[in-house]
Amino acid sequence: MTTSSIAADYDVLVAGFGPTGAVATGMLGRLGHRTLVIDRLTGIYDKPRAIALDHEIFRHFDNMGLAAAISPYVEPFTASEHFGADGQLIRRIDMVSKPYPLGYTPSMVFSQPPVEAELRRHAVSFPSVRAELGVELIDLVQTPDYVEARLRDPDGQLRSVTARYVLGCDGASSTVRQIGGIALEDLIFDEPWLVVDVRVNEDALSKLPQSSAQFCNPARPVSFIIGPKNHRRWEIMLLPGEDPRQMERPESVWRLLAPWLTPRDGELWRAAPYRFHALVAANWRNGRIVIAGDAAHQQPPFIGQGMCQGLRDATNILWKLDRVLKGASGDELLDTYTAERKQHVIELTGKIKAIGRSICERDPVAARRRDAQILIEGGGKPLSITRQEIIPPLRAGFLAEQNGAARGSLFPQPQIMGEGAVHLLDKVTEPGWSVFIDGRSGGAASLVTLCAEHPEFTAAAIAPAGTGAPSVLEETDAVLAGWFDRHGIIAAIVRPDHYVFGTAHNASELSDLLLEVSLRLRVVSAERQSTSAAAG
Ligand SMILES: Cc1cc2nc3c(=O)[nH]c(=O)nc-3n(C[C@H](O)[C@H](O)[C@H](O)COP(=O)(O)OP(=O)(O)OC[C@H]3O[C@@H](n4cnc5c(N)ncnc54)[C@H](O)[C@@H]3O)c2cc1C
Repeated sequence: MTTSSIAADYDVLVAGFGPTGAVATGMLGRLGHRTLVIDRLTGIYDKPRAIALDHEIFRHFDNMGLAAAISPYVEPFTASEHFGADGQLIRRIDMVSKPYPLGYTPSMVFSQPPVEAELRRHAVSFPSVRAELGVELIDLVQTPDYVEARLRDPDGQLRSVTARYVLGCDGASSTVRQIGGIALEDLIFDEPWLVVDVRVNEDALSKLPQSSAQFCNPARPVSFIIGPKNHRRWEIMLLPGEDPRQMERPESVWRLLAPWLTPRDGELWRAAPYRFHALVAANWRNGRIVIAGDAAHQQPPFIGQGMCQGLRDATNILWKLDRVLKGASGDELLDTYTAERKQHVIELTGKIKAIGRSICERDPVAARRRDAQILIEGGGKPLSITRQEIIPPLRAGFLAEQNGAARGSLFPQPQIMGEGAVHLLDKVTEPGWSVFIDGRSGGAASLVTLCAEHPEFTAAAIAPAGTGAPSVLEETDAVLAGWFDRHGIIAAIVRPDHYVFGTAHNASELSDLLLEVSLRLRVVSAERQSTSAAAG
């Protein structure tokens, strides 16, 4: 429970109940923080925008207890085959192969409206959460202790609430970002596309490609994505002079889809023109105002990462905000949020833009040059890459001072053998800060004992079956043993959001790292200081 309770009505006001706001609210609720979430709309947007998610995000859903509820709406993401100017296969973007590093299918497609409904249902299931729909945030005023938010109710009445922090998850045109005086930096990408979703009739599905595809045709680049069940998406570049309003009309859409389908083959679910932008907020926090999701960044959807980035924001800020609200850390911990997430968004957006620019090439000569270059990179064959290698690690922020192996990367999630059953690691360990030790190393037991001096951390030694001491957890597929070997380390300190804080080669390095985290986390809370000063 929140310890210091100043006179604010809520600990956190979450503005915007889209996927980012719903995940943030659910996490705040689970942690017992008094949370008000509002959305100016009364319902969930009933058409899909995001269509892809990845194993990092699914791991968070599983941690929230939502894997079973969400699984019916999720399927594996087929490889994306890129075809060049002359229709030849030039590149294949697939997912990493088994054994899967986080224990789930690494790349997935999903149906956004029912998944959002599950996220909302989960968020409002906590007694400390209140959701108000049809309520719009129109103004914010910060004081040293709280933020006063001006809200407009569905009947037009204005009222104010106070919260210790405001989390702006209010989408691309974020009011919170604007009131917070937070500027957007242009990462220079601006292309008009038409996004078309079709529910394809069963008997027409076989006419379509059986893998997702990018048709890098300079005459008109098109992406094709195999969504769950009979959902198929086309993202179609609009050409100079084409009027987006004309192009979204059903007759224009079916003309564009003619190489694949006729109107008898399915139901047009949605067609909407979008400008694919690349933007990032200069700062993600101004005092007690923090932004996340599309409010903080927008990127072209070429590898389906926009919503995933928003959920990374939510899981990054939440463990920090939790500590600050509980008085366990000073609010300067929140500064690491901008440092970590902004750098990550810029780096990933750079890679997405590079893929986008190569797809969007309109000059036939340059397009053939591109195709030849990609084939050279593939050693004369279509280049094969994985979606996972495109996602960068964290490079700055609340990470060990020493830039050791695997620092800032996602910690794997092996399958652990239990009595008569196999469970994913997160199911058999506590959430929060953890130390994982290579159970094959002779001194594993003494390393676990060393960690016991730091109650903030749970520690576990893990090894493949039959290779460790009796107290060691046994993994089934050597996923973690392979990871330790690849990085040449024997222990990793892992943050609550599953990112590796730092790694150690021996007991002395591990001891130093534990001390470093403890010192950096236990910065005396600025709020607690001011509360005790006021009390004194
Ligand atoms: C064509 C397309 C394809 C995409 N494909 C993918 C994909 O495959 N994978 C992926 O990860 N992402 C994808 N994205 C991106 C993804 O859809 C977004 O990143 C994601 O929906 C953003 O979530 P959010 O919660 O941050 O914002 P939003 O979903 O925009 O939610 C913001 C909420 O805030 C509310 N709101 C706004 N202002 C106020 C206010 N003043 N007061 C109260 N409430 C307010 C809104 O009503 C809304 O409900 C795609 C996007 C597009 C357009």
